[in-house]
Amino acid sequence: MKKTYRVTIDQKLCKGCSLCVNFCPKKNLAFKDGILTFAGECSGCMLCVRYCPDFGITVQEGK
Ligand code: SF4
Ligand code: SF4
Repeated sequence: MKKTYRVTIDQKLCKGCSLCVNFCPKKNLAFKDGILTFAGECSGCMLCVRYCPDFGITVQEGK
């Protein structure tokens, strides 16, 4: 079975730098009205987690 990943954004930690938006190969992250949002299917590549300077994103396996 295909693995699924849950992406959680901590709005208190996110400083809005857009690094994760640019690094996500699936284009899952975007700003809507100044708030970082996740939509789509996460491949679990962890690039957003690795590049966020503020530890604002966590990605966990499973729904
Ligand atoms: S883990 Fe990879 S695919 Fe998933 S949201 Fe982060 S950058 Fe995008
Ligand atoms: S990389 Fe981190 S601080 Fe920058 S927009 Fe993404 S979650 Fe926010």
